[in-house]
Amino acid sequence: MKIKFLGAAREVTGSKHLITTDDGTTILLDCGLYQGKGLQTDELNRNLGFNPKDIDYLILSHAHIDHSGLVPYIVKNGFEGMIICTHATRDLCAILLSDSARIHEHDAHTFNKKRRREGLPTIEPIYRIEDAEKSLGYFVSIGYNNKFKINKNVSLIFTETGHILGGAAVNLTFTEGTETKRICYTGDVGRHHNLILKEPQPFPQCDYLITESTYGDRLHDNKDDSQKRLLEVVVETCVKKRGKLIIPSFSVGRTQEIVYSLNLLWNKGWLPKVKVFVDSPLSINATNIMRMHPESFNNAMLEQMENDPDPFGFNTLTYVRSEDDSKKLNNHDEPCIIISASGMMEAGRVKHHLANSISSKKNTILVVGYCAPSTLGAKIKRGDSEVSIFGIRYKVKADVRILESYSAHGDFNEMIFYLSCQNKKELKKIFLVHGEYETQLNYKTTLEFNRFYNIEIPEQGQEFEL
Ligand SMILES: [Zn+2]
Repeated sequence: MKIKFLGAAREVTGSKHLITTDDGTTILLDCGLYQGKGLQTDELNRNLGFNPKDIDYLILSHAHIDHSGLVPYIVKNGFEGMIICTHATRDLCAILLSDSARIHEHDAHTFNKKRRREGLPTIEPIYRIEDAEKSLGYFVSIGYNNKFKINKNVSLIFTETGHILGGAAVNLTFTEGTETKRICYTGDVGRHHNLILKEPQPFPQCDYLITESTYGDRLHDNKDDSQKRLLEVVVETCVKKRGKLIIPSFSVGRTQEIVYSLNLLWNKGWLPKVKVFVDSPLSINATNIMRMHPESFNNAMLEQMENDPDPFGFNTLTYVRSEDDSKKLNNHDEPCIIISASGMMEAGRVKHHLANSISSKKNTILVVGYCAPSTLGAKIKRGDSEVSIFGIRYKVKADVRILESYSAHGDFNEMIFYLSCQNKKELKKIFLVHGEYETQLNYKTTLEFNRFYNIEIPEQGQEFEL
């Protein structure tokens, strides 16, 4: 049996890991899109490293596009297997894959206008909305902690990772002759005190562990302080400076956590009476899906809901769906809070709000999540004095504040605590994926200090015999 690492190898994007058993069964773990890799991105996405027709099963750890975003592409190119994931991951993929297709179609359209002017041949988007819609026909969803027989030799159990709604560790058991091999792919690992979701749950003992390492050398702020700090930024911006607070945020997970935090502050009577806008159709759809999955909520959230049945709504909050209403926010002169996607500030309506607000001292940009190097978010976060938005240079005069505690990824202490459910002596090998190489080297050292051994950091395309 072999495993080949075809993405998120010494980097944080494009997760794809291919298992091939001795009898020739192929199981792909995640099928993520590369994002933010500049000119290389399209080429990386089109060269999968396998033929989609040869894949029997695709198992998704969660719905984030860097884990699921190439599903329509493989379906377009002949994949006819089964896509297995949790119920919530299926629901989120239904909106995220179409949204991703829309972005690709839009980008190709813009790019082709320029190419036509230059007399060059036009390009085809990597996939279209119809490919995203077609791919949903291949999904089979199962609940957490249920044993699912994939075929006569392979069984699967999903366990909760607390990363985003539907997020799951993929626990596989392979029987080959008299031998049994157990593989766990953790996908992305969440934090221990997610405001909404259950914390990462212990998972069955494995022989081979494939795990993420995004924050392998970082410790986050204390989550308990996050509400207090959020309130401080709201007061400073909207009450003292009478400005706009722009919160670029991922549509799935982060946006709901921010809204829920503001809701809690509202319930306590602490939130200043300023208008709050969630300006992103995708975030609105994701919030509706979250409302449909209370089985994933933690006890504190469920207790809150006994008194406040809608944890994602309060009097001063408006969800903005139409483009016209979104544009009207540009002329909104009152202090307000605008939560908009995308989190890394590379796409979506947030770019308009940033262009409109970034050069005024009275406004604040609150960065609440990970921004891959080279993204607009990373440039703003590291304090660049000037940035380019839609090809125009803007001076950064607004205050930039950072609140890491809303991260959907655990820090190294949280990840090691999560892995500590394993008997270390039974672990034959640990593969670190989904992390910058330097971070992975540091995480490896910390893991070894905690008596986890036999750690590999696979390169792109590297294959291992299991
Ligand atoms: Zn993720």
